[in-house]
Amino acid sequence: NKFVAVKEYVHGQPSELNFEVKTAPLAITLKKGSNQIIVKNFYVSIDPYQINRIKAYSSSHNASGFSTQIGLGERVDAFGVGRVVASVNEEFKVGDLVAGLLNWEEYTVVQPGTILNKITDEFALSYHVGVLGPSGLTAYAGFYEVCKPKNGNTVFVSAASGSVGNLVGQFAKLSGCYVVGCAGNKNKVDLLKEKLGFDEAFNYKEEPDFKLALKRYFPDGIDIYFDNVGGEMLEAAIVNMKAFGRVALCGVISEYTSAGPRAAPNMLDVIYKRINIKGFLAYDYLHIYNEFISTTQDHLRHGRLQVLEDISEGIESVPTAFSGLFRGDNVGKKSVKISND
Ligand code: NDP
Repeated sequence: NKFVAVKEYVHGQPSELNFEVKTAPLAITLKKGSNQIIVKNFYVSIDPYQINRIKAYSSSHNASGFSTQIGLGERVDAFGVGRVVASVNEEFKVGDLVAGLLNWEEYTVVQPGTILNKITDEFALSYHVGVLGPSGLTAYAGFYEVCKPKNGNTVFVSAASGSVGNLVGQFAKLSGCYVVGCAGNKNKVDLLKEKLGFDEAFNYKEEPDFKLALKRYFPDGIDIYFDNVGGEMLEAAIVNMKAFGRVALCGVISEYTSAGPRAAPNMLDVIYKRINIKGFLAYDYLHIYNEFISTTQDHLRHGRLQVLEDISEGIESVPTAFSGLFRGDNVGKKSVKISND
């Protein structure tokens, strides 16, 4: 069983050197009553949040204790999709297709209590790590439950060509909003406008002043900011928010790799404009999971949602796939195909 292990903790920007691909025999006999199953992994998800578990932490990091550091030499857990190849669990039979919490490895021994769902629909398996998986729920819950959109609202999305961002923009268009996204190169910007139906998009790396850029696209202000990046872009968005605007704090990827001082939104501005800023985790919205799945599947069946996927091949490509997220290499949901059916 090949697996990806943490070799060195990340200082600043992650690289391939932080990981190693190891091999260990899958020497386990499932005991009756243990409820364990073994899954052969087909796709594993590559997600920015994983960096927070493999950083070289100082005590000032991770103040909320939200993520536990993975030990050196240990495997990295990740959402994934696979097939049950052995089971002593009554709920799962050999041959079932499943999506849930696995590891960056070829086979995972899944312990009872781990999040794992059977896949029974007709969609591509890879969709279950993306549009029909955690990214989809994040975009759906964050946009509809946190941002509470109204027809005609002006919406700004950062990291808009990424896994979560592209779906937020598309949901916003389906809700009758005016949508502007930012992304890190021209191809991504073109894709947002030409393929995904964003009203406008811009390359933030070419903008000397984010506040002025947002003023250009939102002369009358922003109703909703879906924030995937934090930092300076959040500061600039706050300046451009309308009164009673909503900000969904989904992620702060620009801050995951920087050790320097952070941009600080003007909080007096937040007060005077009565802006609602809410941090959220997709995990908090499992109660709307069924609604999310049925609505999103319906959009997919009727061709109302475009699916953006970026899939690398083979377990050896996981370290490059992961570090690429922080260079902006990916377009849409990044995953690695570990094996064929
Ligand atoms: P993406 O697919 O968006 O991949 C990351 C993208 O972020 C890159 O492609 C890059 O695009 C952009 N990026 C990288 N570094 C920077 C930087 N320094 N400044 C600005 N943009 C940068 O990832 P996801 O869609 O999976 O995640 C998006 C955000 O949502 C992340 O912050 C993540 O942590 C968060 N998240 C939160 C969840 C929650 O429950 N709250 C759940 C899932 C994700 P570009 O070319 O545009 O720079």
